[in-house]
Amino acid sequence: MNIYVFLGPPGVGKGSLSKLCVEKLGWQQLSTGNLCRMHIANQTDIGKKIDFIIKSGKLVPDDVITEMVSDWLIKNYDSNRTIILDGFPRTVIQAKAIDDLLKEKFPGSKINVVKLIIPEKTVISRLTSRLICGNSKCQAVYSTMTKALAPKDINVCDKCSCKLIKRQDDNEQSIKERLAVYNEHENELLKYYSKNQKILDLNVEKNLDEVFEDFKKLINLK
Ligand code: ADP
Ligand code: ZN
Repeated sequence: MNIYVFLGPPGVGKGSLSKLCVEKLGWQQLSTGNLCRMHIANQTDIGKKIDFIIKSGKLVPDDVITEMVSDWLIKNYDSNRTIILDGFPRTVIQAKAIDDLLKEKFPGSKINVVKLIIPEKTVISRLTSRLICGNSKCQAVYSTMTKALAPKDINVCDKCSCKLIKRQDDNEQSIKERLAVYNEHENELLKYYSKNQKILDLNVEKNLDEVFEDFKKLINLK
């Protein structure tokens, strides 16, 4: 199994780039943030436990997230499709847990790490202008700041016609917390992965199409 880990702060565009890889390259995206929001919307036991954590911008406990990822991989595994891990791992404990899981259940798998790079002030304006589809099965992402990412009808999802909402953690306080949490773990994660591989740097302060072209070049895809 070939895996790409997208590393980068909240709002950097991991989800948007993942979406293009799914649509244009036929890859699969595993977004732990989306999985968490689905649990909350469905009011599962996990959802009830993590609702407040997510709102406040803190991390969901490592064991809860790791189990979600493991369940997803076992269910969705397809040897022909590259998988993007979007928003996971966020801590070294998670990174080690996925390494162990791959070794045991999917031997021969390879993790490639791409670091998405952008100035912090760009990230903050992206997050404050972000809207998502309120339908938890859809969760399509829009922006009120960038024309290319604006919905066709104001506040309505292009894909499923549900109402667009602001994410509960896209408020100033939670954004600050999420950036702080990301910065706290970034170095450790980079150190962990750079022991065994060269981390690929991708500048994402460009429009999305250019970012996608740069990404393909970076990984030697036509
Ligand atoms: P962002 O990257 O913009 O913060 P995500 O949608 O990836 O947004 O994640 C939203 C929230 O879900 C995080 O702030 C965190 O509470 C929780 N979460 C997602 N992935 C993880 C993870 N790997 N470990 C712990 N918590 C996570
Ligand atoms: Zn939708």
